Amino acid sequence: MLAEFPAQRSETAFTDYKLPLYPAQATVEAERCLFCHDAPCVVACPTHIDIPQFIRKIASGNDRGAAKTIFESNILGMSCARACPVEVLCVGACVFNDLHEPPIQIGKLQRHATDRAFEEGWRFFEAGAPTGRRVALVGGGPASLAAAHELRRLGHLCTIFERREFLGGLNTTGIAPHKMKADRSVTEAEWVLAIGGIEVRSCAEVGRDVTLEDLERDFDAVFVGIGLGADSRAKLLGEDLPGVLGAVEWIERMKLGDAGLAGVRRAVVVGGGNTALDAMRELLTLGVPQVTMLYRGTEDSMGGYVHEWQAAKAAGARVEWRTVTTAFEGANRLERLRCVRVDASRAPLAGSDFTLAADLALLAIGQSKLGAALAGLAGITLESGIVRVDAQGFTGRPGWYAGGDCANGGKEVVNAVAEGMAAARAIDRELANGGGTKRKGAHHA
Ligand SMILES: Cc1cc2nc3c(=O)[nH]c(=O)nc-3n(C[C@H](O)[C@H](O)[C@H](O)COP(=O)(O)OP(=O)(O)OC[C@H]3O[C@@H](n4cnc5c(N)ncnc54)[C@H](O)[C@@H]3O)c2cc1C
Ligand code: SF4
Repeated sequence: MLAEFPAQRSETAFTDYKLPLYPAQATVEAERCLFCHDAPCVVACPTHIDIPQFIRKIASGNDRGAAKTIFESNILGMSCARACPVEVLCVGACVFNDLHEPPIQIGKLQRHATDRAFEEGWRFFEAGAPTGRRVALVGGGPASLAAAHELRRLGHLCTIFERREFLGGLNTTGIAPHKMKADRSVTEAEWVLAIGGIEVRSCAEVGRDVTLEDLERDFDAVFVGIGLGADSRAKLLGEDLPGVLGAVEWIERMKLGDAGLAGVRRAVVVGGGNTALDAMRELLTLGVPQVTMLYRGTEDSMGGYVHEWQAAKAAGARVEWRTVTTAFEGANRLERLRCVRVDASRAPLAGSDFTLAADLALLAIGQSKLGAALAGLAGITLESGIVRVDAQGFTGRPGWYAGGDCANGGKEVVNAVAEGMAAARAIDRELANGGGTKRKGAHHA
């Protein structure tokens, strides 16, 4: 059910960028914490892990208790410890920043406790008393995994429909391998499923193999966690040439198999977000000598995190600011990009055209939105392909909830987890109040 990946994958060449703490380092770091009342680090965490409490437990040698505190709020606490942009979340909010002292390394402490839980095989949670209710979860990424686990704790049976062979979503196929590799994400998914009572229907695409009507008929509630779709296209001349790829598509190839970089000497990444920055670091680590980012704005306006940009620069990334590509050229495969400089309003500057030689171009200009999969279900509203939900993930149609990238437009793993858990609790409340898809009067479009 959970597919195995080839042992030799391009991503296996990567080592951890942030090294784990030795046990003695973890204790020393934990003892630095001020255990703040109303801790700003907790507020900054979308899943509101009780950070001072878990750090206090590490300081007293209770790693097991620390892990339990983390997983209580975030069942994907192991992958979040590696993938979270802590610099702009908990660590960025730590009071030590205001004291001009190094902030507590919360992510590394979280990794210390959660890795230990995985190594020791600690389990903390059991399914709740059976309610006899069944919930379908569409997509097997972080949002659905977190929702399913919470629903099981509340006693509801779950079925995850995942169109791929394996679980984890972008946690498996997208996260930079210097943070986490694909097999670790799949191991985490298995760890989540160990609570029991979560059926996984892999290679089952809702809309193709299973219809929305099937879900509404067979389940008491539905959680939609389908994430985002394929890389957006630039719609430019030459885009179909071999050597021009979507960045997310290439990252998946690199993580699950061969990155296909034989003969690639010059790569260009188009875009200025975190996917572009990840792709550049990955290309450089895999030995591509020249990697250049083309971005239509400036350093101040780029969507990627400052700390990720600094790391990409340190790895050797080049950049052409205020530059867009206008065509991809080559005889049988990509040889060069036509480029032009743009002004602050993105209008091309006359006479600024130039060409940039490249063997590979990765487009990191966004991903398509998959909300259309729900089109036609009365009560559900889509905004530019994003599923509109309230703070609890309710879509407006009885029994139907959504969370993660498909509803927030594309954020982080920790947001998907928080939204999945919130939706699970809301589903539980709705079912307890006699609601759900089978509620008398629920509309069937
Ligand atoms: C390149 C890249 C790097 C990233 N790096 C980080 C990072 O370092 N840290 C971080 O916190 N976040 C990162 N993110 C963001 C993070 O991965 C996502 O926010 C998170 O995975 C969203 O979870 P999700 O469950 O909403 O969606 P996804 O992870 O996308 O999972 C959705 C799942 O639904 C399945 N699916 C889709 N349609 C259907 C259907 N019709 N039927 C059945 N199944 C379906 C998909 O196959 C997929 O498995 C990154 C994203 C990208 C693209
Ligand atoms: S803000 Fe910093 S010092 Fe305060 S509890 Fe959080 S980690 Fe500890």
